[in-house]
Amino acid sequence: MMGIDEKLQPILAEVKRRNAGEPEFHQAVHEVLESLGRVVAKHPHYLDLALIERICEPERQIIFRIPWVDDHGKVQINRGFRVQFNSALGPYKGGMRFHPSVNVGIIKFLGFEQTFKNALTGMPIGGGKGGSDFDPKGRSDGEIMRFCQSLMTELHRHLGDQTDVPAGDIGVGGREIGYMFGQYKRLNNRFEAGVFTGKALAYGGSRARTEATGYGNTYFVQAMLATKGTSYDGKRVVVSGSGNVAIYTIEKVQSFGGKVVACSDSSGYVIDESGIDLALLKEVKDVRRERISEYARRRGADAHFVPAEKGSVWDVACQVAMPSATQNELSGKDARALVKNGVMAVGEGANMPCTPEAVKVFQDAGVLFAPGKAANAGGVATSALEMQQNASRDSWTFEQTEARLATIMRNIHDTCHATAEEYGAPGDYVLGANIAGFVRVAEAMRMLGVI
Ligand code: NDP
Repeated sequence: MMGIDEKLQPILAEVKRRNAGEPEFHQAVHEVLESLGRVVAKHPHYLDLALIERICEPERQIIFRIPWVDDHGKVQINRGFRVQFNSALGPYKGGMRFHPSVNVGIIKFLGFEQTFKNALTGMPIGGGKGGSDFDPKGRSDGEIMRFCQSLMTELHRHLGDQTDVPAGDIGVGGREIGYMFGQYKRLNNRFEAGVFTGKALAYGGSRARTEATGYGNTYFVQAMLATKGTSYDGKRVVVSGSGNVAIYTIEKVQSFGGKVVACSDSSGYVIDESGIDLALLKEVKDVRRERISEYARRRGADAHFVPAEKGSVWDVACQVAMPSATQNELSGKDARALVKNGVMAVGEGANMPCTPEAVKVFQDAGVLFAPGKAANAGGVATSALEMQQNASRDSWTFEQTEARLATIMRNIHDTCHATAEEYGAPGDYVLGANIAGFVRVAEAMRMLGVI
């Protein structure tokens, strides 16, 4: 990685001034601007038109109150967010996150990343993101439903299948999407299938959407490994998290012959030298919504649990690491431990899970490194396929949808690879993804005038 070109430094300074106290957003902008020096050297008109400044400023930010009543009859208040970042390429598109850490800076960083990610898919979707500081852990089904309904009572006026199309993210899966879509339908008196993605098959969802982010990251890393003439076969793999992205990463890696030996949640990690038992993991996390220690307890002698305060999942030796939990979960220290243990490829399933220091450690050590905005784009790409099926009132087979996903991931890989080479940094997927994503959005914005 390199520093920021001096022509771009005032842009970052202004972003920091205007968005004070939002470190994750500053970090995401910093990382993209680091790559853009080479673009403005080649195409100075991007500076004249203030395209970079415009791309860093969301088109619209919505913050609202979400009042709801818990099971004890007590009124609870949460805060809701939707940041409609950029619509140059299509309707705003990006998930909703429910987690107590959510604030406007986190939603902004995710919306910013989403804009470039969506551009990389080559599909007609703009960038947006939303969520709430609501903590779903320990809440009953009824509480989740009332919360989702209250959120949508406000948010519905800002959405539409041609305007803004949310989906899931941390804490938001099929159940929550169902409740939000149900309330949207009721308020609008309109079955607008394309206003939400990640829907269940029963009411307009797409096959392979649930699996898409994890499968997509697995395909991306497979393509990177292939550039070195190797594959997953027989390799030790560590996946962090045990939610949607992690589970389907593990499934696909195993199908390609990789051996996943550890996964985690916020309470700690499990190590299972005979390979993670996916059916048990799904039962514990997906069906029963229990903690990861329960996996180790039920698996018996094969596995053991290490609490978060006693160590990091990245201490487990592996050749491929796929961080799939949350931002900044993999530090410089973790990266050094991974490099020491012989890691050769890292694919970010989560958004910005590696700190800038960790990314530098990997790149300096010659580790193949896939940034989230490229590697985890399979989820949103399949969401765009869901919108396509909704618009044509069609429903594709799993095989057909997965084949499209695999092609899209291959294209994203090749685009990032070729762009890095074109701009004089062969093998730098961070630079390739940032430049390719930026150029597609910036070109569309240029053609649309000063908007
Ligand atoms: P889930 O809610 O299904 O799972 C999240 C997992 O990460 C859980 O195991 C959770 O553990 C863990 N986690 C969350 N926050 C923290 C934290 N602060 N510290 C440690 N562990 C944490 O979410 P997803 O799998 O959908 O999302 C995971 C990542 O992938 C996110 O970064 C998301 O933005 C990204 N992503 C998701 C896409 C999708 O299609 N779902 C698409 C593209 C990116 P616990 O249960 O203990 O909280």
